[in-house]
Amino acid sequence: MSKSTFKTNPDACPLAKKCGGCQLQNMTYERQLKWKQAREEILLGRFGRVGKIIGMDNPYHYRNKVQAAFGRTKGGKYISGVYQSGTHRIVNVDSCMIEDETADSITVDIRNMLPAFRIMTYDEDKRTGFLRHVLIRRGFTTGEVMAVLVAADSYFPMKKKFTAALLERHPEITTIVLNINPKDTNLVLGDREEVLYGKGYIEDELCGLRFAISPKSFYQINPVQTEKLYAKAIEYAALDKDTTVIDAYCGIGTIGLAAAKTAGQVIGVELNRDAVHDAISNAKRNSMKNIRFYCADAGDFMDDMVTQGERADVVFMDPPRSGSSRKFIDSLLNMAPEKVVYISCNPETLARDLRLITKKYKAQKITPVDMFPHTHHVETVVLMTRNNAGKG
Ligand code: SAH
Repeated sequence: MSKSTFKTNPDACPLAKKCGGCQLQNMTYERQLKWKQAREEILLGRFGRVGKIIGMDNPYHYRNKVQAAFGRTKGGKYISGVYQSGTHRIVNVDSCMIEDETADSITVDIRNMLPAFRIMTYDEDKRTGFLRHVLIRRGFTTGEVMAVLVAADSYFPMKKKFTAALLERHPEITTIVLNINPKDTNLVLGDREEVLYGKGYIEDELCGLRFAISPKSFYQINPVQTEKLYAKAIEYAALDKDTTVIDAYCGIGTIGLAAAKTAGQVIGVELNRDAVHDAISNAKRNSMKNIRFYCADAGDFMDDMVTQGERADVVFMDPPRSGSSRKFIDSLLNMAPEKVVYISCNPETLARDLRLITKKYKAQKITPVDMFPHTHHVETVVLMTRNNAGKG
């Protein structure tokens, strides 16, 4: 390794210690990639050769969803940003090296507009005040921008004037939503919503498909790398019109919809009802007719399929950080699809699950993808084929 690899990052963030979000930010990007590659090799090397990690050309400002908590200092100054790690103390953020720059500038302007509009920030201890958080989401391909004001109640007499003033400063905003969250909770968004401007959601394109993103929708936060990850997963699956595919833990259906372009039919399964709802409307939006979505625990669903004698040729699985369940893996091994493509956001649970799956499968290809530069997270896509594939 060259000496330059170990140089610290010249762009290191002054808030790094307080925020704690970018654990690797004192390394150069080149070194971060080597660190992640080495970690993957330690955890996954025993299952097969780990390919070269897919990094970002420009590993900055990739987060297209930015959330800021609002409050005041003891001296009464308005602040907005992230909670200091492990606390509810707000660290004031003007710009962040991984967040979308438009999103940061909108958030700072909202903060600066508050005194003129006499808008109070919410005080978590006293449970008084109005503005709790601001959430900005930006469509990477479409450029559409959503600003969500999260407030403790719906009484907002200045809303028309505030909306007009914000749009004047940021004409790139395509929709503004007031979200009402009166609860004493760690969840940012509440249940009620009022659209103050525009259509209430933004659209974006991923893998040539169009997706609607509302304030609450799950959507990958780094679209540049997500495209590379899904393209790799689809390439590994080598689909054709005769293949039946299961997209397990499908979220809003992104992988399944991308697969449906070439596969015969696709079945998506997901536990979160809202995500399933979004997945169904995304299928309609893209006129995809060979895909169906079910709201169920992925393990139960696979188990039912096996009991009913149904099967698939390819199973994509993209479980949460905790990995897959024993029930899912047992059913998968019973169903015995020719190929399993495992997409993982946690190499530790991936290694645990691979130990079981590789009883009947061989890991043919393993590719790490850097979805979250400067953090310690690493995503992996693994292609597995059945040991006696072709024979039964
Ligand atoms: N494949 C999607 C989402 C992956 S995130 C994408 O790339 O966009 C993991 C998903 O698994 C989440 O949507 C979560 O709601 C879902 N999930 C968690 N536990 C589950 C379970 N037991 N059964 C089915 N889905 C589950």
